[in-house]
Amino acid sequence: MKPTVKVFSLGGTIASSGDKGKGVSPTLGADTLINAIPGISEKVKVKAENFRQLPSPHITFDDIQELVKAINKDIDLGVDGVVVTHGTDTLEESAFLIDLIYKKNAPVVLTGAMRNPTLPGADGPANLHDAVMVASDRKSKGKGVLLVFNSEIHAARYVNKCHTQNVNAFRSKPLGPIGWISENSVRILSSPMPTFSSKFTSNCSMARVALLKTAMADDGSLVNCVISDKYEGLVVEATGGGHVTPKMVKPIIKATKVMPVVLVSRTGNGENLRETYMFPGSEIYLYERGVLNGGWLDGLKARILLSLLIGSGANNSEIKKVFESYIDGKLS
Ligand code: GLU
Repeated sequence: MKPTVKVFSLGGTIASSGDKGKGVSPTLGADTLINAIPGISEKVKVKAENFRQLPSPHITFDDIQELVKAINKDIDLGVDGVVVTHGTDTLEESAFLIDLIYKKNAPVVLTGAMRNPTLPGADGPANLHDAVMVASDRKSKGKGVLLVFNSEIHAARYVNKCHTQNVNAFRSKPLGPIGWISENSVRILSSPMPTFSSKFTSNCSMARVALLKTAMADDGSLVNCVISDKYEGLVVEATGGGHVTPKMVKPIIKATKVMPVVLVSRTGNGENLRETYMFPGSEIYLYERGVLNGGWLDGLKARILLSLLIGSGANNSEIKKVFESYIDGKLS
């Protein structure tokens, strides 16, 4: 029997059309996207649903929470796997959030496109074909949420968008993709770390968390704005291994008194230091004053995890523990 895959379309470049020279926007539905893949129905029974018709910067946390409910419903009704088509701009954030709150074993695979269907070499049909292949393959079960792009299979836990236009727009730090698609064959040669399991993902509300990138000679005033605007949490993308300017120290410590503050690195690679430097604004100095270590998570992922934890009622020490477990890959 052919496996059944449900495709939820949410818009993005993969679903965009428009008049030449006037710009494109999402208009195409899931059926149109599926019909652009020759021969797919010989291999897989594909069902389609137009879930949202949005450019991905318009997608909200609520859209994603509702999507996960719809995915769960379809899996309970017997579909073997799910594909989500979505704009690439925020694809990594939706993938990471779904990965944190989706608890079933059936594969959930996100994909999109960099070249819209009006352009030569549009990559949407190939990406959707590969995503359907991955979602219908038993090897994808229990691997967490996956992102398929340019014939590579990435774990939502690691993936990020790394190019504005190239079709090879996604990479996985720190480990690289977990597999690839060769013709119609799915190769998954490594497993991502265990699936996140925590009481704090059960009610799934999202708190308002600010993400601030620091820069040379930063005077810290944006941190004060975060406090006065009553954000519920703050992620600081610090320089190097987790360092900020002397002027940022006071506002950051003030912020820790009213909200959890998580430190990540703006470098985009590697893990924050924990025990190397001691100067005002260094990693040891900040941790000793209540700042939490975001480890190897980037700012986007740390913001989503922090938002979910605060929204679910976790306190500072519980948040610290979850981040420590996440960094250490001990999640279940
Ligand atoms: N390059 C983006 C995309 O792939 C543009 C807009 C969006 O993210 O929806 O879809």
